[in-house]
Amino acid sequence: MKTNIHFINQSILCELENYFSKPIDLKTEVTTPEIEIKNSSIEDYNMFNPVFRSVIKDFIVILTKNFPREDLKNFYNNINGLKLKTKKLREASAHYKIDKNEIEVEKDLKPSNINGILFHELFHMASSTYANGRRYSGFSQRTKSTKKIIGNGINEGYTELLAHRYYPQIFKSSYVEECGIVLHLEDLIGKEEMSKLYLNADLNGLINRLREYTKDEDILEFITSVDQIQDYYLNKSTKIEFLYNIKKAYRFILRAYIKKQEIEYSNGKISKQEFINKVGEYIYLIKQTSHTDKNNYITQFEVIEILESVLGENEVNANITQKVYSMYSERT
Ligand SMILES: [Zn+2]
Repeated sequence: MKTNIHFINQSILCELENYFSKPIDLKTEVTTPEIEIKNSSIEDYNMFNPVFRSVIKDFIVILTKNFPREDLKNFYNNINGLKLKTKKLREASAHYKIDKNEIEVEKDLKPSNINGILFHELFHMASSTYANGRRYSGFSQRTKSTKKIIGNGINEGYTELLAHRYYPQIFKSSYVEECGIVLHLEDLIGKEEMSKLYLNADLNGLINRLREYTKDEDILEFITSVDQIQDYYLNKSTKIEFLYNIKKAYRFILRAYIKKQEIEYSNGKISKQEFINKVGEYIYLIKQTSHTDKNNYITQFEVIEILESVLGENEVNANITQKVYSMYSERT
């Protein structure tokens, strides 16, 4: 009997390859870069393209005012030789090239959008480094031996979050879903620590923090699901896959947050009432952020199931579950 094997097309083969490819070992493949200090001051403002000079100055003031100097090694290394170009770009409004230390900006960009977009790229510049023959940028990096980019979704979401936070004038936003997820991730890790890890291009440090609440397998699944969100906009995934990735990310964060508060409670750092309130508030905030026009990415049923799986049946869980019932019956 003739086999159909010859008719398997290339895309199915690629999918099979992905399916059978070994998952990344976070312990060996993700590393913290050693950042050597090449510069520690800004030599000359006149080196910047005059068109962008004032927004670069604004960025420098904001960065040096809001973040500790010890976390600005990448920034001082890169800012002095930074090149800025305008050109016709096909795929993005702007991008930062780590190896060339260069920002390219779309030449026909609306003037009202330029500063916000530039802030985003400048944050990439301030959080990128080239070390041990590999590129590290904020929460993304090329894995050690498999050379795959990992963490791009979290990185873009956090970059956009910072650009909005420090340049709040309205501009066209990208990475909306990643931004929402990362906002809650920041709540879990802590604002100061999150920006420290980002500016030092330390995805490994972020993973180490998450290891306090969960296992590597789940952390990898979380990072990968955020990485895959953009596939939908690039026509590489379906709407169902897109929604499922967002759902997986929110489920992970909620589970880790409940675990964190449970640890704090059992160590006597917070009271029972604080434990209940903190988890209740976090669920409420996630509910507010994580919805499309029609649905919540994470449903009441799922929240209750996660509570049950982390806390088991007890008074704290019963209390929080009660809060969940009433917040989901509210009209928002
Ligand atoms: Zn970006």
